[in-house]
Amino acid sequence: MKCKRCGKKAIAHLRAYGIALCEECYPEFYIRLVKRSIKRYGILKENERVLAAVSGGKDSSAMAAVLKELGYDFELLYIDLGIEEYSEESEKAVRDLSGLLDVSLNVLRLRDYGFTISDLRRKWRRKTCSGCGVAKRYIMNRFARENNFNVVATGHTVEDVVSFYLKNIAGGIKIWAEKLLPRNEPFDEKIVTRAKPMFEISERENMLFVLVRNIPFTPVECPYAPSPEWKEIVYDIERKKPGFTKNFIRGLLIEKGEFGEVNYCRICGEVASGDVCAFCKLRMRFEG
Ligand code: SF4
Ligand code: ZN
Repeated sequence: MKCKRCGKKAIAHLRAYGIALCEECYPEFYIRLVKRSIKRYGILKENERVLAAVSGGKDSSAMAAVLKELGYDFELLYIDLGIEEYSEESEKAVRDLSGLLDVSLNVLRLRDYGFTISDLRRKWRRKTCSGCGVAKRYIMNRFARENNFNVVATGHTVEDVVSFYLKNIAGGIKIWAEKLLPRNEPFDEKIVTRAKPMFEISERENMLFVLVRNIPFTPVECPYAPSPEWKEIVYDIERKKPGFTKNFIRGLLIEKGEFGEVNYCRICGEVASGDVCAFCKLRMRFEG
Protein backbone atom coordinates (compact mmCIF):
# COMPACT_ATOMS: atom_id res chain seq x y z
CA MET A 1 0.00 0.00 0.00
CA LYS A 2 1.33 3.41 -0.96
CA CYS A 3 0.91 6.83 0.66
CA LYS A 4 -1.84 8.72 -1.13
CA ARG A 5 0.05 11.98 -0.69
CA CYS A 6 3.62 11.16 -1.68
CA GLY A 7 3.71 7.58 -2.95
CA LYS A 8 6.11 6.23 -0.28
CA LYS A 9 5.30 3.08 1.67
CA ALA A 10 2.17 3.68 3.75
CA ILE A 11 2.18 2.84 7.48
CA ALA A 12 -1.54 3.12 8.01
CA HIS A 13 -4.78 2.84 6.15
CA LEU A 14 -7.33 5.16 7.71
CA ARG A 15 -10.57 3.59 6.61
CA ALA A 16 -12.73 6.31 8.12
CA TYR A 17 -11.15 8.74 5.64
CA GLY A 18 -10.44 6.27 2.84
CA ILE A 19 -6.75 7.25 2.83
CA ALA A 20 -3.39 5.51 3.33
CA LEU A 21 -0.43 7.55 4.58
CA CYS A 22 3.30 7.15 5.18
CA GLU A 23 5.15 8.01 8.39
CA GLU A 24 5.96 11.50 7.17
CA CYS A 25 2.55 12.43 5.84
CA TYR A 26 0.55 10.89 8.71
CA PRO A 27 1.60 13.30 11.50
CA GLU A 28 0.76 16.31 9.32
CA PHE A 29 -2.64 14.84 8.53
CA TYR A 30 -3.28 14.04 12.20
CA ILE A 31 -2.26 17.48 13.48
CA ARG A 32 -4.56 19.08 10.92
CA LEU A 33 -7.42 16.82 12.08
CA VAL A 34 -7.02 17.93 15.70
CA LYS A 35 -6.65 21.56 14.70
CA ARG A 36 -9.83 21.45 12.61
CA SER A 37 -11.77 19.76 15.37
CA ILE A 38 -10.63 22.28 18.02
CA LYS A 39 -11.81 25.05 15.70
CA ARG A 40 -15.09 23.43 14.64
CA TYR A 41 -16.30 22.98 18.21
CA GLY A 42 -14.55 26.00 19.72
CA ILE A 43 -12.81 23.60 22.13
CA LEU A 44 -9.96 25.98 22.93
CA LYS A 45 -9.83 29.70 22.33
CA GLU A 46 -6.93 31.88 21.37
CA ASN A 47 -4.85 33.32 24.20
CA GLU A 48 -6.21 30.89 26.77
CA ARG A 49 -3.84 29.53 29.39
CA VAL A 50 -4.34 25.78 29.26
CA LEU A 51 -3.65 23.20 31.96
CA ALA A 52 -3.22 19.88 30.12
CA ALA A 53 -4.02 16.95 32.41
CA VAL A 54 -1.75 14.07 31.48
CA SER A 55 -1.90 10.49 32.75
CA GLY A 56 1.13 9.00 31.01
CA GLY A 57 -1.15 7.17 28.55
CA LYS A 58 -1.01 7.59 24.78
CA ASP A 59 -4.09 9.79 24.45
CA SER A 60 -3.11 12.57 26.83
CA SER A 61 0.54 12.38 25.66
CA ALA A 62 -0.65 12.85 22.07
CA MET A 63 -2.84 15.75 23.18
CA ALA A 64 0.09 17.52 24.87
CA ALA A 65 2.33 17.00 21.84
CA VAL A 66 -0.29 18.46 19.47
CA LEU A 67 -0.98 21.44 21.74
CA LYS A 68 2.74 22.14 21.53
CA GLU A 69 2.71 21.82 17.73
CA LEU A 70 -0.24 24.19 17.51
CA GLY A 71 1.48 26.79 19.69
CA TYR A 72 -0.84 26.80 22.72
CA ASP A 73 0.26 28.37 25.99
CA PHE A 74 0.06 25.42 28.38
CA GLU A 75 1.52 23.49 31.31
CA LEU A 76 1.13 19.85 32.24
CA LEU A 77 -0.60 18.50 35.34
CA TYR A 78 0.01 14.97 36.55
CA ILE A 79 -1.90 13.57 39.53
CA ASP A 80 -0.16 10.74 41.35
CA LEU A 81 -3.09 8.51 42.33
CA GLY A 82 -0.91 6.18 44.41
CA ILE A 83 -1.59 3.06 42.35
CA GLU A 84 1.79 1.37 42.87
CA GLU A 85 3.59 0.31 39.68
CA TYR A 86 1.05 1.96 37.39
CA SER A 87 1.57 5.37 39.02
CA GLU A 88 5.36 4.99 38.99
CA GLU A 89 5.45 4.11 35.28
CA SER A 90 3.00 6.88 34.45
CA GLU A 91 5.02 9.51 36.28
CA LYS A 92 8.19 8.44 34.48
CA ALA A 93 6.46 8.79 31.09
CA VAL A 94 5.06 12.18 32.00
CA ARG A 95 8.46 13.46 33.13
CA ASP A 96 9.96 12.33 29.81
CA LEU A 97 7.10 14.01 27.96
CA SER A 98 7.65 17.28 29.82
CA GLY A 99 11.37 17.14 28.97
CA LEU A 100 10.80 16.35 25.30
CA LEU A 101 8.19 19.06 24.79
CA ASP A 102 9.98 21.54 27.05
CA VAL A 103 6.74 22.28 28.90
CA SER A 104 6.45 22.76 32.70
CA LEU A 105 5.11 19.83 34.67
CA ASN A 106 3.08 20.14 37.87
CA VAL A 107 2.84 16.99 39.99
CA LEU A 108 0.21 16.67 42.72
CA ARG A 109 -0.09 13.62 44.96
CA LEU A 110 -3.42 12.32 46.15
CA ARG A 111 -1.79 10.97 49.33
CA ASP A 112 -1.20 14.58 50.37
CA TYR A 113 -5.01 14.83 50.63
CA GLY A 114 -5.15 11.85 52.99
CA PHE A 115 -5.61 8.75 50.83
CA THR A 116 -4.66 6.98 47.61
CA ILE A 117 -6.76 5.17 45.01
CA SER A 118 -5.34 1.88 46.28
CA ASP A 119 -6.71 2.76 49.76
CA LEU A 120 -10.03 3.54 48.13
CA ARG A 121 -9.95 0.22 46.32
CA ARG A 122 -9.48 -1.70 49.57
CA LYS A 123 -12.30 0.15 51.26
CA TRP A 124 -14.83 0.61 48.52
CA ARG A 125 -14.08 -1.75 45.66
CA ARG A 126 -17.15 -1.19 43.53
CA LYS A 127 -16.69 2.55 43.40
CA THR A 128 -12.97 2.80 42.65
CA CYS A 129 -13.34 4.54 39.28
CA SER A 130 -16.13 6.88 40.27
CA GLY A 131 -14.18 7.90 43.40
CA CYS A 132 -11.06 8.32 41.31
CA GLY A 133 -12.99 10.53 38.88
CA VAL A 134 -14.23 12.69 41.75
CA ALA A 135 -10.68 13.08 43.08
CA LYS A 136 -9.16 13.93 39.68
CA ARG A 137 -11.84 16.50 38.78
CA TYR A 138 -11.54 18.14 42.19
CA ILE A 139 -7.76 18.42 42.11
CA MET A 140 -7.63 19.56 38.46
CA ASN A 141 -10.25 22.24 38.99
CA ARG A 142 -8.81 23.60 42.20
CA PHE A 143 -5.25 23.65 40.96
CA ALA A 144 -6.26 25.31 37.67
CA ARG A 145 -8.26 28.01 39.43
CA GLU A 146 -5.66 28.75 42.08
CA ASN A 147 -2.97 29.03 39.42
CA ASN A 148 -4.92 31.17 36.96
CA PHE A 149 -5.43 28.72 34.12
CA ASN A 150 -8.43 29.46 31.88
CA VAL A 151 -9.15 25.89 30.90
CA VAL A 152 -8.33 22.29 31.86
CA ALA A 153 -7.78 20.03 28.84
CA THR A 154 -8.17 16.25 29.12
CA GLY A 155 -7.31 13.49 26.65
CA HIS A 156 -10.80 11.94 26.22
CA THR A 157 -11.16 10.33 22.81
CA VAL A 158 -14.09 9.74 20.49
CA GLU A 159 -14.36 6.16 21.81
CA ASP A 160 -14.56 7.41 25.42
CA VAL A 161 -17.46 9.66 24.53
CA VAL A 162 -19.38 7.20 22.32
CA SER A 163 -18.93 4.21 24.68
CA PHE A 164 -20.06 6.34 27.63
CA TYR A 165 -23.16 7.36 25.72
CA LEU A 166 -24.05 3.83 24.57
CA LYS A 167 -23.44 2.29 27.99
CA ASN A 168 -25.74 4.77 29.68
CA ILE A 169 -28.47 4.54 27.09
CA ALA A 170 -28.34 0.73 27.26
CA GLY A 171 -28.60 0.89 31.05
CA GLY A 172 -31.60 3.21 30.84
CA ILE A 173 -29.64 5.94 32.59
CA LYS A 174 -30.29 9.52 31.71
CA ILE A 175 -27.10 10.75 30.16
CA TRP A 176 -24.93 13.22 31.94
CA ALA A 177 -24.46 15.86 29.26
CA GLU A 178 -21.19 17.28 30.56
CA LYS A 179 -19.24 14.16 29.71
CA LEU A 180 -20.45 14.34 26.13
CA LEU A 181 -19.54 17.92 25.39
CA PRO A 182 -16.26 18.98 23.79
CA ARG A 183 -16.12 22.04 26.01
CA ASN A 184 -17.89 22.84 29.27
CA GLU A 185 -18.26 26.43 30.24
CA PRO A 186 -18.33 26.97 34.00
CA PHE A 187 -21.65 27.50 35.74
CA ASP A 188 -19.94 29.10 38.71
CA GLU A 189 -16.83 31.22 39.23
CA LYS A 190 -15.18 28.44 41.23
CA ILE A 191 -15.33 26.10 38.25
CA VAL A 192 -12.73 26.25 35.50
CA THR A 193 -13.73 25.51 31.88
CA ARG A 194 -13.02 21.93 30.83
CA ALA A 195 -12.14 20.96 27.28
CA LYS A 196 -11.55 17.79 25.28
CA PRO A 197 -9.27 18.63 22.35
CA MET A 198 -9.30 14.95 21.24
CA PHE A 199 -13.10 14.79 21.23
CA GLU A 200 -13.24 13.63 17.61
CA ILE A 201 -9.94 11.75 17.50
CA SER A 202 -9.67 7.98 17.84
CA GLU A 203 -7.34 5.98 20.06
CA ARG A 204 -5.74 4.37 17.02
CA GLU A 205 -4.99 7.78 15.50
CA ASN A 206 -3.37 8.84 18.79
CA MET A 207 -1.38 5.61 19.01
CA LEU A 208 -0.03 6.01 15.47
CA PHE A 209 0.99 9.59 16.20
CA VAL A 210 2.86 8.83 19.45
CA LEU A 211 4.64 5.88 17.82
CA VAL A 212 5.66 7.73 14.65
CA ARG A 213 6.82 10.80 16.59
CA ASN A 214 8.39 8.87 19.50
CA ILE A 215 6.28 10.69 22.06
CA PRO A 216 6.78 9.22 25.56
CA PHE A 217 3.85 7.26 27.00
CA THR A 218 3.38 4.14 29.09
CA PRO A 219 1.48 1.12 27.78
CA VAL A 220 0.88 0.02 31.41
CA GLU A 221 -2.84 0.13 32.16
CA CYS A 222 -4.43 0.93 35.48
CA PRO A 223 -4.96 -2.41 37.31
CA TYR A 224 -8.40 -1.21 38.45
CA ALA A 225 -9.69 -0.40 34.95
CA PRO A 226 -13.10 -1.95 34.42
CA SER A 227 -13.63 -4.43 31.63
CA PRO A 228 -13.58 -2.57 28.33
CA GLU A 229 -16.67 -4.26 26.88
CA TRP A 230 -18.41 -1.07 25.75
CA LYS A 231 -15.24 0.15 24.11
CA GLU A 232 -14.95 -3.20 22.36
CA ILE A 233 -18.49 -2.82 21.03
CA VAL A 234 -17.52 0.58 19.66
CA TYR A 235 -14.32 -0.83 18.05
CA ASP A 236 -16.39 -3.63 16.55
CA ILE A 237 -18.92 -1.33 14.94
CA GLU A 238 -16.09 0.91 13.68
CA ARG A 239 -14.42 -2.12 12.09
CA LYS A 240 -17.61 -3.01 10.28
CA LYS A 241 -18.67 0.54 9.52
CA PRO A 242 -15.58 2.74 9.18
CA GLY A 243 -16.34 6.31 10.20
CA PHE A 244 -19.17 5.28 12.54
CA THR A 245 -17.76 6.84 15.74
CA LYS A 246 -16.95 10.17 14.17
CA ASN A 247 -20.33 10.41 12.44
CA PHE A 248 -22.08 9.31 15.59
CA ILE A 249 -20.50 12.01 17.68
CA ARG A 250 -21.31 14.68 15.15
CA GLY A 251 -24.89 13.52 15.03
CA LEU A 252 -25.34 13.53 18.78
CA LEU A 253 -27.78 16.19 19.74
CA ILE A 254 -26.29 17.42 22.90
CA GLU A 255 -28.18 19.61 25.24
CA LYS A 256 -26.38 21.29 28.02
CA GLY A 257 -27.52 20.23 31.45
CA GLU A 258 -29.38 22.76 33.51
CA PHE A 259 -27.83 23.58 36.79
CA GLY A 260 -29.82 24.52 39.84
CA GLU A 261 -28.72 26.59 42.78
CA VAL A 262 -25.01 26.42 43.56
CA ASN A 263 -23.84 25.30 47.00
CA TYR A 264 -20.38 25.51 48.47
CA CYS A 265 -18.84 22.76 50.57
CA ARG A 266 -18.83 23.69 54.26
CA ILE A 267 -15.46 21.99 54.71
CA CYS A 268 -13.33 23.17 51.80
CA GLY A 269 -15.47 25.87 50.14
CA GLU A 270 -15.47 24.28 46.64
CA VAL A 271 -18.67 23.91 44.61
CA ALA A 272 -20.87 21.10 45.92
CA SER A 273 -24.25 19.63 45.08
CA GLY A 274 -25.13 19.44 48.80
CA ASP A 275 -23.68 20.58 52.09
CA VAL A 276 -20.34 18.77 51.67
CA CYS A 277 -18.64 18.20 48.29
CA ALA A 278 -18.09 14.69 46.90
CA PHE A 279 -14.32 14.93 47.40
CA CYS A 280 -14.53 15.87 51.09
CA LYS A 281 -17.02 13.03 51.64
CA LEU A 282 -14.44 10.71 50.13
CA ARG A 283 -11.69 12.13 52.34
CA MET A 284 -13.82 11.76 55.47
CA ARG A 285 -13.84 8.01 54.92
CA PHE A 286 -10.10 8.00 55.55
CA GLU A 287 -10.03 10.20 58.62
CA GLY A 288 -9.20 8.97 62.07
FE1 SF4 B 1 -8.82 5.79 38.18
FE2 SF4 B 1 -10.40 3.81 37.32
FE3 SF4 B 1 -8.93 5.22 35.59
FE4 SF4 B 1 -7.76 3.53 37.29
S1 SF4 B 1 -9.18 3.00 35.64
S2 SF4 B 1 -7.07 5.61 36.81
S3 SF4 B 1 -9.04 3.76 39.10
S4 SF4 B 1 -10.61 6.01 36.84
ZN1 ZN C 1 3.53 10.24 2.32
